[in-house]
Amino acid sequence: MSEFGQFNFRDEVFQGIDAMGYDKPTPIQIQAIPAIMEGKDVLGCAQTGTGKTAAFLLPILNRLCDKNVDGSKIHAVIIVPTRELALQIDQQLEGFGYFMDLSFISVYGGGDSSTWEQQKTALVMGAEIVIATPGRLLSHLALGYVDFSHLEYLILDEADRMLDMGFHEDIMTIVKLLPKKRQTLLFSATMPPRMRTLAKTILNQPIQIDIAASKPAEGAIQGVYMLEEQEKLNKIVELFSKDDVSGAIIFASSKIRVKEINTALKKLKLNVAAIHSDLDQKERETVMRDFKNRKLQILVATDIISRGIDVEGLDLIINYDVPRDPEDYIHRIGRTARAEKSGVALTFVNRKDAPNLKKIERFLGNPIFKIPSTS
Ligand code: AMP
Repeated sequence: MSEFGQFNFRDEVFQGIDAMGYDKPTPIQIQAIPAIMEGKDVLGCAQTGTGKTAAFLLPILNRLCDKNVDGSKIHAVIIVPTRELALQIDQQLEGFGYFMDLSFISVYGGGDSSTWEQQKTALVMGAEIVIATPGRLLSHLALGYVDFSHLEYLILDEADRMLDMGFHEDIMTIVKLLPKKRQTLLFSATMPPRMRTLAKTILNQPIQIDIAASKPAEGAIQGVYMLEEQEKLNKIVELFSKDDVSGAIIFASSKIRVKEINTALKKLKLNVAAIHSDLDQKERETVMRDFKNRKLQILVATDIISRGIDVEGLDLIINYDVPRDPEDYIHRIGRTARAEKSGVALTFVNRKDAPNLKKIERFLGNPIFKIPSTS
């Protein structure tokens, strides 16, 4: 059984988790799931990319699997700032809920009159989970056909964005229409004072969970080259023919690549060495010492040992291949731009790696600059 086995979920929920291919809960899931299953309110400080969606969906799904739950009533409302976020949650529900007899609907603005009618029908029939943007939900509520008397869960997701977008009043109007006896979960990437005030008003003795977001060093300038695989080596040669660097690391995904890059840079008469699993411990230590003393300017290393490399204040980091784990990306670029110095982190991305880049960008919360190709 996967590490999700630590939670006391019903079989259908475990099947959904397996189907989604999750095998290890993220830190926010480890902390939030038991609290939610115990019926506690939760104030979660976490951003997109931490796994917060599954952290609140799984306990709710687990509850809704109960035979005693009336499937024709609304049991959970998830309020979100945007249609995009509503769709993302909808997709995760689709995956997790595959083995359950579950009804849910996304209610957001736009679309034609048939979209409105579809939303209305689902609300009247009582979708068990309603994901909604505040404005559109209020428009439906104003017409009086939504019955919240069976509601058990209210979730506010990306609450800080909703406040930034001016939804405070709408949220309060919706909350007033919900049963007082309910479980409320509020997630927000930041906790400014007005968020604390909102949390105080609508949460009841919440468990507070803070998932500190890894952030790249402030002075790191990040860029991406979109390249075909066979163009990468030439790009390295081009970059290192032009500029002088005092300390650079190139990370690549295999030792064959590491050796190729090392050879290409040696031909440029650069002070470079490679570090990979063919070297024994003593040889690795020698290379690392020379690099730290700046006897060597450039180090080419395999991904596998990237976490063990402890050198800071470098002026250039190159990801020859996209790191699979966003944490690795952040960890690497944290090696540049220390102590008010700026550093540059470049990532080579081929078509196949584009989804991994997206994952990193989601984690960072913003896109990375795509450097236009000059040739
Ligand atoms: P979120 O922060 O909820 O937007 O999740 C970010 C991404 O991580 C989504 O693509 C999820 O499908 C994925 N994810 C969430 N939890 C896990 C997990 N425990 N294992 C693997 N992927 C996960």
